[in-house]
Amino acid sequence: MCLTLILASWAAVAAEQAKPTKKVSAVKHAEKPAVTRKVPARKNKPVVASQRGETSKTRKPGKLGAKRATSIKTAALKPATKPIEEHADQPKNITPAVVKPEKPAPSKGPPANELFGSVSLPAPLASRSIGFYTRGCLAGGVALPITGEAWQVMRLSRNRNWGNPRLIDYIERFASDARTLDHWPGLLIGDLSQPRGGPMLTGHTSHQIGLDVDIWLTPMPDHTLTPEERETMTAESMLKDPFTVDPDKWTPLHTKLIKRAASYPEVDRIFVHPAIKKVLCEQAGDDRAWLAKVRPWWNHYYHFHVRLSCPPGAGDCKPQKPVGDDDGCGQEPANWYAKLRKAAIAAATVPPPTVTPRTVTPPIRKRGLTMDDLPVQCITVLTSGGSEPVSINSDAMPAPILKMLASKEAGPPLPRLDPAALRALIGVREVGMPLPDRNPNR
Ligand SMILES: [Zn+2]
Repeated sequence: MCLTLILASWAAVAAEQAKPTKKVSAVKHAEKPAVTRKVPARKNKPVVASQRGETSKTRKPGKLGAKRATSIKTAALKPATKPIEEHADQPKNITPAVVKPEKPAPSKGPPANELFGSVSLPAPLASRSIGFYTRGCLAGGVALPITGEAWQVMRLSRNRNWGNPRLIDYIERFASDARTLDHWPGLLIGDLSQPRGGPMLTGHTSHQIGLDVDIWLTPMPDHTLTPEERETMTAESMLKDPFTVDPDKWTPLHTKLIKRAASYPEVDRIFVHPAIKKVLCEQAGDDRAWLAKVRPWWNHYYHFHVRLSCPPGAGDCKPQKPVGDDDGCGQEPANWYAKLRKAAIAAATVPPPTVTPRTVTPPIRKRGLTMDDLPVQCITVLTSGGSEPVSINSDAMPAPILKMLASKEAGPPLPRLDPAALRALIGVREVGMPLPDRNPNR
């Protein structure tokens, strides 16, 4: 069966069910990530560099040749005294090892991520961001050119370099400014959105309306990367352990880059790993207003995520609650420490996920959004002409989806605690145990 047929029959049912009073703007925020294991409360013992046998003498020089970020405190984030406040309105982008699997809900139609993931061209409509960052779609998507003066797009096989013109314009100006004003060599660009936005089969919960972009914290090399290099090159992690930025990798230039990224009025939020936010707080100096836009969130340790506000007058685009004036450098880092600690302990006590980047596996079915969960305009976005219909069935996924699934993740896995660091963190003492005299199974 082809997509056109599926869509035609399903659209007829959907039209039948659609009621004028349906609340299309009702947006459920991304759920809070849950930790799969309960860990008994013990006295917090943060892991510091000295406990891991690392000294400044053994460190390699920074990649950029810039002056080392001497002001980075290598001590871990401080233990929390209060539970972490909800960040339910931020993207859910977390380590699979610590995610509590969601119960699949009864399907009300084809999964929207398969539908949006199978279309390789934008909807030939006026450019509009429709819905919310985690529940919406993109009309008239514009492609960011894969190579610019000061940027290069990575993982071309994903076909996720599409956005609202507001986002394309932002990336071009930011890349140019970072290069000429801050001497950042150039941006390596990760995912924007799919050609028609919408939910994705892998990765993000957000990035659905063409106003989100992931940008690597690895500077652009001095040559034009081949398509192969763009698939296989891996971003560099900025973390030394699950709680601490590596001072050999993070440079003052990185701080300048994030500050520059936040300096444009159309930027709504920037997401970075909590340990990176802590370093930014320490290095910001007196000019601190921009820090309010920089929000801590899981997994942003090899890239940062820029989210733009809805374009002015864009009635179909649902804005996110504006950030306040608080720079987020007070209690928030300590609150995040508790969360990171739980996640690190959980991750250290389960086997690491097997990484087979070149193996195509069927997509993991999350509680998939269906078209009923998206604004009704997204039906028009999905079904407008301009793209070849592709077949969909569970045995033979369409070529664009297979290609995208085969694409390698952009960054390294989150650092895991080794057994000694785990014992130090949870305060376990080694107790001598007698060995058997002979094999007890005989
Ligand atoms: Zn992101």
